[in-house]
Amino acid sequence: MFGILKKVFGKTTDAIKEVAPEKKSTITKDEFEDILLEADVNYELVERLLEELPSKINRIQAFNSLISVFQYKANWKDSDEKPFVEMIVGVNGAGKTTTISKLAYMYKSDGKKVLLGAGDTFRAAAIEQLSRWATKLDIPIVATKQGHDPSAVVYDTISSAKAKGFDNVIIDTAGRLHTQTNLSEELKKMIRVAQKAMPSAPHRKMLILDGTQGTSAINQAKAFNEIIGIDGIIITKLDGTAKGGAVLSIADELQMPIFYIGTGEQPSDLITFKANDYVNTILDEIFL
Ligand code: GDP
Repeated sequence: MFGILKKVFGKTTDAIKEVAPEKKSTITKDEFEDILLEADVNYELVERLLEELPSKINRIQAFNSLISVFQYKANWKDSDEKPFVEMIVGVNGAGKTTTISKLAYMYKSDGKKVLLGAGDTFRAAAIEQLSRWATKLDIPIVATKQGHDPSAVVYDTISSAKAKGFDNVIIDTAGRLHTQTNLSEELKKMIRVAQKAMPSAPHRKMLILDGTQGTSAINQAKAFNEIIGIDGIIITKLDGTAKGGAVLSIADELQMPIFYIGTGEQPSDLITFKANDYVNTILDEIFL
């Protein structure tokens, strides 16, 4: 993962090099502040982290400081029951469809039987796009026509997966409806119906956030969390952005796990997020 991370966060580390061209064994608070701000870590978090640090900071101190941001409790439980049902939420354009395809591809590559549910019935294009990916990856999908009740898709997908011994179910949801109230009610209903099909479902509700969006991504996350209670996040589009420090801001503001990060547009461009590796990728650019 290390090599991939170095590449993914290449633009972020290039930005860091602009303000810290030389690697050192210790850095000052001002230097650390410049580096974090350059990587787009939010200002308040930077100030809070600096308060706890000495005037000369070594690598271990910097590591402990940054890693402390990722100390949250996971509130979802792994399940032995089959299928493991995941609901994917997020605003349009965040990368929901692409990420669902990547997850499906990851599980399939792991030898799992995956069934997709095209639960964004608000947009015909969403159903078509996910169906195209399903065909390309040779993964079955439950889909209806635009305008049909997405909860029916949820019920059918989970019931069919149970009957046919599937390991994983991944359900798409709408990113926008006519009104925000409609969207909240629809998402809540989808969860209630999932529970009817399988009392322990959905096992994980994951939010897709566009990593290039900064604060607006954080506000979106808070809104979705209030509606349905999110278990964790997948951050997309971290390739090609110099704002890699946003990962820290997102983890700090939301206090929930970051499960995966999207690193490109291809099905294999998804990696499990490991906080240690992420922090070390940044620190490798700063310290000797
Ligand atoms: P949705 O509307 O949320 O379903 O978003 P899509 O899945 O259609 O993605 C929107 C755009 O973002 C598409 O052009 C995707 O190829 C692109 N995209 C999604 N994830 C990533 C990623 O991790 N990296 C890059 N570079 N592009 C991505």
